[in-house]
Amino acid sequence: MYADRLSNLPPYLFARIDAMKAEKERSGADIIDLGVGDPDLPTPPHVVEALCAAARDPANHHYPSYAGMDAFREAVAGWYSRRFGVNLDPAREVLALMGSKDGIAHVPEAFVNPGDVVLAPSPGYPVYRTSTLFAEGELHELPLETGNGFLPDLDAVPAAVAERAKLLFINYPNNPTSAVAPRSFYDEVVAFAREHGVVVVSDNAYSEIVYDGYSAPSFLETDGATEVGVEMHSLSKTYNMTGWRIGMAVGNPEVLAGLGRVKTNVDSGVFDAVQRAAVAALSGPQDCVAAACRVYEERRDVLVRGLRSLGYDVAAPRATFYVWLPVGDSMAFAARLLDEASIVATPGVGFGAHGEGFVRFALTRPVERIREALSRMEALR
Ligand SMILES: *Cc1c(COP(=O)(O)O)cnc(C)c1O
Repeated sequence: MYADRLSNLPPYLFARIDAMKAEKERSGADIIDLGVGDPDLPTPPHVVEALCAAARDPANHHYPSYAGMDAFREAVAGWYSRRFGVNLDPAREVLALMGSKDGIAHVPEAFVNPGDVVLAPSPGYPVYRTSTLFAEGELHELPLETGNGFLPDLDAVPAAVAERAKLLFINYPNNPTSAVAPRSFYDEVVAFAREHGVVVVSDNAYSEIVYDGYSAPSFLETDGATEVGVEMHSLSKTYNMTGWRIGMAVGNPEVLAGLGRVKTNVDSGVFDAVQRAAVAALSGPQDCVAAACRVYEERRDVLVRGLRSLGYDVAAPRATFYVWLPVGDSMAFAARLLDEASIVATPGVGFGAHGEGFVRFALTRPVERIREALSRMEALR
């Protein structure tokens, strides 16, 4: 019944954990779900108010413009300028997205012919792989390993592969490893993209979720970056707005035009009232962002200290709301945690072959629940 493009999708490796979790739920177990990459904190009230006001205005009830309303694109440009010192032309260098997943899922349609190579990290956000497959591209995985600080080794890409590469996905601060990239890494990316004629797609969904005084850069701060690529960003993680579906692609105008041509044919833009709310988020007070980071930071400290006292060798992340724990067989570890302690963690192998050996804990549950999870893990030993 289904087209080959569905049967060609990789097996959904989280299915076993999902099924075990559903069974646990039916049995009435008190589950602590540290699997979800979705903030448990609410959207800031001033943003919700802006949506309510905009929803009442009939001017916002029509088809939105494809590229996003001027006020939204100007707010994105203002935010990039204040936050990163990157100056964007709102008319040509900003495109509204229905969340950054929208951009990541559709960008290969615009640039990848059947058989072209797409370079993407493993472990990595699963949509890099599936969007490549939908465009009939060939995925070449860039292993992220402890020894390299979870940065891909671009010199290790075989010349014949680099020659056929059309797109390169990068993602720092990184999901799932929580690694951050030094600025020198972005210089290497620009040099690689120039040498091989590759379009760079930087996924910067976690730039605002940071700790210990760390400040994450934008890829577009790098000399030459706008010549070779774009950045996908989103309000989802920064302002606890995952359900609202709004993000932005910024950078190279030709790349954005290609992505925009695909999107014009598959969606009709983001609800104007949601764009108005996004303007309030990007242009309003930013103390809500720092407050959310302090909440995650406390959880991080409790989880990392607790895991270390249980004997695990785990790094404290400087960004993202994930802790990437080395455990051996990731599926067996996650299954045991769920079965014997009713704790959900995400097996690393589900993010790609090179995620094997790790599980990902998300800091998206209250600190008391993290303490409870640790005491259950202690009892497991
Ligand atoms: C959450 C996430 C996204 C997408 O989020 P949107 O809600 O679609 O903006 C993109 N990339 C990574 C790595 C993520 O974790």
